[in-house]
Amino acid sequence: MIVFAQAVLMTACASGPPGGSAPRDQSGADPAITAFIEKIRAVDNHAHANSVMPGDSDADALPLDGIAPFELPVRLRPDHPDVLAAYKALYKYPHQDLSDTHLRDLHSTMQATAQEQGANFPAWVLDQIGTEVLLANRIAMGAGLAPPRFRWVSYADALMFPLSTKGEAATTPDRQKLFPLEDQLLQRYLADLKIAGLPATLDAYLNTVVTPTLEAQRKGGCVAVKFEAAYLRALDFDDVPVADASGVYAKYVRGAVPSHVDYKLLQDFLFRYIAREAGRLDLAVHIHAFEGAGNFFRTDGADPLLLEPVFNDAALRKTNFVIVHGGGVFASHAGAMLWKPNVYVDMSLMTLAYSSARLADILIGWLTEFPEKVLFGSDASALGPDQGWELTAWSGTRAGRAALALALTEMMRNGDVDRARAEEIATMVLRTNASKLYKLGLP
Ligand SMILES: [Zn+2]
Repeated sequence: MIVFAQAVLMTACASGPPGGSAPRDQSGADPAITAFIEKIRAVDNHAHANSVMPGDSDADALPLDGIAPFELPVRLRPDHPDVLAAYKALYKYPHQDLSDTHLRDLHSTMQATAQEQGANFPAWVLDQIGTEVLLANRIAMGAGLAPPRFRWVSYADALMFPLSTKGEAATTPDRQKLFPLEDQLLQRYLADLKIAGLPATLDAYLNTVVTPTLEAQRKGGCVAVKFEAAYLRALDFDDVPVADASGVYAKYVRGAVPSHVDYKLLQDFLFRYIAREAGRLDLAVHIHAFEGAGNFFRTDGADPLLLEPVFNDAALRKTNFVIVHGGGVFASHAGAMLWKPNVYVDMSLMTLAYSSARLADILIGWLTEFPEKVLFGSDASALGPDQGWELTAWSGTRAGRAALALALTEMMRNGDVDRARAEEIATMVLRTNASKLYKLGLP
């Protein structure tokens, strides 16, 4: 069992509800709702599961080990008790410490498990954590990551940057490292289409590169495309006339470095074009919105309110958008966007970075207004040697379930929902909202 810091919530609940009510467990959550939530087979809206291929080079479009070492919140540090708890839960690690000798034993156990499970290892992980379907955000899927347990979420940012990115990259040391990775990914998309170089016109680029890439991803089993744009620029994508974007494309396509003002016109146009095509192809659009990562990340550029003009674009109403990581510090802004008919939010990464009490407060805000728009997610990722994605899959899933139990306990206590409705909402958040959004057909 993982023990979270629940001091704030426990204080708030210490006096108990008027008239007496169900008992709480140590965390302050109602044990019956906790037990109910434990049994729900979840859909994880956002995670970075690895294939079983050594090296797994198709895992990530913007692997952050490429940028300078950066600050990590306490719960994501290698010495956090969650890591030990995950080792115990997944690998039956018998020790209370992480000494070198004990870690060598653990390493052997992990290797033996990987060998024993083979290509079934990723599905084995899902079985350990009670997840039925995991949406894997990857450049391409790989061995061990097959449907129906694993569904693909591809990366779309590279399509937004067909011109030289030298000027854009110069804006921060992190972007200096990240933009070349987008350049490489665009080259890969072109190679996949057997196209040697960029076409001369924007119209040809849209018709021979952008649309065919999205169509191929859809055909390859993709259920959503992800934008990590907030690492590269702010999320204010204006509605740019095609003539303006075409002019910029034609002017710089042969290699000249565009001015930022010019390039933004083209990027903005391409973002909305990709979002519109995604809607046509029944692909949801995932957008990273959080206060990190990286020492030069611009949090103000990741505010979901910057996306409101996109969400209000009548031409994009057939596209479903998911604010991934719940907007982080802008969680209430993300909640405000749920008034739009085609906008959803997930709790991924919050499950790994925030305390369950803090996440519970955020969930109460969202669930009180739009429970059918809230999705569970872990953002499980490999963090280093012997810290594969399965560890954060375990801890993020535990934390997400714990926070949901706390939130629903509080909502029952306040009389916002009765027990039956709390159970219904738990099932929606962990499973059926995502099943409906991606047409997974889960009961
Ligand atoms: Zn992620």
